[in-house]
Amino acid sequence: MGRFYEYKCPKCNFSKEMHVGGGFFSKKYWEETEQQEKELRAKISEGKYGDYVRKLVECDTGNKLRFICNTDVFQCEKCFGLMIERKREIFYDTDDYEMVIEFKKTCPECKGGKLRKHPESIRCPECKEVPLKLEKFGSWD
Ligand SMILES: [Zn+2]
Ligand SMILES: [Zn+2]
Repeated sequence: MGRFYEYKCPKCNFSKEMHVGGGFFSKKYWEETEQQEKELRAKISEGKYGDYVRKLVECDTGNKLRFICNTDVFQCEKCFGLMIERKREIFYDTDDYEMVIEFKKTCPECKGGKLRKHPESIRCPECKEVPLKLEKFGSWD
C-alpha cells in the first residue's frame, strides 16, 4: 500500500502532491526496493559506512536485521528542497526494544545539505518562509 500527501503553501502558490511507497500491484517498485536493500547490505559489509555498522551486520548471523529502502518524503535541511527519496535504514526489533539506524543522504539539488526524513513541519521549498499545510493524505493500492 502506498501513501499520498498533498501539500499547499498558505503564503505563495506552491502546491505538490507526493506519492510514497508502492501499491500492491506495483511489482517494479517492490523489485527495485528489494534490490536496493540487498545493495545496502552489501555496501555495509564492504565497509562503506565504517567499521561500526559493518561489525553489526557481521554479527547478524540469524538475519534479524532488516534493511529498509522504501521511498518517503524528504526535505533538505539547507535549501528546503522537497523530494521523494529512498530510505537507507537498518531496523532491528526485539521484544524489548527497537533499533533504527538511518544513513542520511546528501541533497541532490544543493549537494550540501542533509536530507531529513518526513519532518513534522515541512517548510515551503518555494518561498521558504512558512510551513506547508497538509491538504489531503491517504492510501492508494
Ligand atoms: Zn539541498
Ligand atoms: Zn510558499
